[in-house]
Amino acid sequence: MNSATLQQLLRATLFHTPRNPFVAQGALEAYADGGLLIANGRVVACGDYATLRKQHPDATVRDLRGGFILPGLVDTHIHYPQVRVLGSLGLGLLDWLKKYALPEEARMAREEYAHAVALQFVNALAANGTTTALVFGAHFESATATLFETAAERGLRITSGLVVSDRMLRDELHQTPDAAYRASKELIRRFHGKGRLLYAVTPRFALSTSEAMLEMCQTLMREHPDVRFQTHLNENPQEIAEVQKLFPSAKDYTAVYERYQLIGARSVLAHNLHSNGSELQRLAGSKATVAHCPCSNAALGSGWFPLRRHLQAGVRVALGTDVGGGTGFSLFKEALQAYMLQRLAPEGVLLEPAHFLYLATRAGAEALGLDNEIGDFAPGKAADFVYLKPPVANPLASIAANAAGPERLLAAIFTLAGADCVREVNVEGSPVYSSHADDPGNQHAQA
Ligand SMILES: [Zn+2]
Repeated sequence: MNSATLQQLLRATLFHTPRNPFVAQGALEAYADGGLLIANGRVVACGDYATLRKQHPDATVRDLRGGFILPGLVDTHIHYPQVRVLGSLGLGLLDWLKKYALPEEARMAREEYAHAVALQFVNALAANGTTTALVFGAHFESATATLFETAAERGLRITSGLVVSDRMLRDELHQTPDAAYRASKELIRRFHGKGRLLYAVTPRFALSTSEAMLEMCQTLMREHPDVRFQTHLNENPQEIAEVQKLFPSAKDYTAVYERYQLIGARSVLAHNLHSNGSELQRLAGSKATVAHCPCSNAALGSGWFPLRRHLQAGVRVALGTDVGGGTGFSLFKEALQAYMLQRLAPEGVLLEPAHFLYLATRAGAEALGLDNEIGDFAPGKAADFVYLKPPVANPLASIAANAAGPERLLAAIFTLAGADCVREVNVEGSPVYSSHADDPGNQHAQA
């Protein structure tokens, strides 16, 4: 048998957003009895099952009815060393960093410790349906390398980088710009563009990086024109005031990064809750993406996300869970939280199911410059997908059986689906996670 010609037709309720629903009508494509035709790890076609069956009578059918297929989820802001920080509630950003996050990040100096956390991190991503993530690495070269290696073994698409800082954290977390440059170069050489891995230059935030360190980041970006860039921006009023003191000549927070040409189409800036109109205009012009992390914003009391102002200015927005400032790995929960906070926020945007799915999939692919490869089920793209099937105890099962239409069902999926519903996660058509929680004797299946 020639495996190169084998086609598989997956049959289930299917959703994807091949267009941006914030700017295009009819961005959501949904098929109640849908088919996803894949071959050699790529999408051949997606649409109505009966039509695809007729067109491809030789394809092997896999009957997954009773469940839902979505494109693999994309998380654009998450910290790998903060898995064990989850649940540290009650403080604002700077106190939370000092008391919870930074002491844990310092423990990543120990290789065994980092390896255990990397395994937990990669497992949790996959178990929640996340196939692609832009990840803050560790402040240590070896721990960051461990993340890349662990992700490669699992088959996930990870973009990450050494977190660089030279002030105001803890001594163990500081590097000199020279040492950070050498470690970054070595990680880029070993991992960037290898399989599904990409490198991102990652200064923690302006507060912890001197001008010399930001200049080092600029050098890396110049020397490697296709690496990505990530950092934090305008998260907390106290942080912003400190940044203003440290960079008195910068007219605002965004200008600190702009001076070193760090804001561009390859850049993802987390949060941006408190930005002025000029910053939004400049971010839009640069084609940078803002990673919106609503669970973290609420948990740390950081503020409302001005989504309407971002959209009006034309700033690209995607979604991030911000583990461990956030509340977990689920992008379903994150999109629901975005909806909740926009319901309450001054001038909030009423988000619809198409927005949830777009923010959790295609928007992230665009942010990472991977939208030619992933983010929806357009023919030729990689067959990265999540298969969800609610266990009987989850009310989603009975809603699915009685839903008035696909949009109503998609809203219920984002409201009720958690890791309990994630049955199979595939990257390029190959499973990176599977669970069969309904099967007796396999109640605690963890890949
Ligand atoms: Zn963060």
